[in-house]
Amino acid sequence: MSPDQLVPIARTAAEMSYSPYSKFRVGAVVVGSDGETFTGANIENAAYPSSSCAEATAINTAVAQGVRKIDVITVACIDAKDVDGAYPCGRCRQIMSEFGVETVIVTAGDGSEVREHTLDELLPYQFEL
Ligand SMILES: [Zn+2]
Repeated sequence: MSPDQLVPIARTAAEMSYSPYSKFRVGAVVVGSDGETFTGANIENAAYPSSSCAEATAINTAVAQGVRKIDVITVACIDAKDVDGAYPCGRCRQIMSEFGVETVIVTAGDGSEVREHTLDELLPYQFEL
């Protein structure tokens, strides 16, 4: 799937965000190796460390359905002012590494700016066992 197809899906997923504390809505869509897609949104908690990023929610949903290889993840931070403030956190980058993500697409705001990276660019020297 192309960024033109994935960005609207991720933006729609962001509408499902539960983010009463930050008011920073994030959505994500992952594409598994068989082409199937899974979405997620950030889910916050009054105990902040118990929150889940949209990327982790989407990946965990895919993995819970049996997916073990994810090719692409698209992340949409619809409340971010620019793409610089929309990149996945370090924890999510490591989760992406675990499931073989190759391409990371990032967008913010109205989705007009879209950047595409390899995971190697965002997380060099990935930890593996
Ligand atoms: Zn994260």
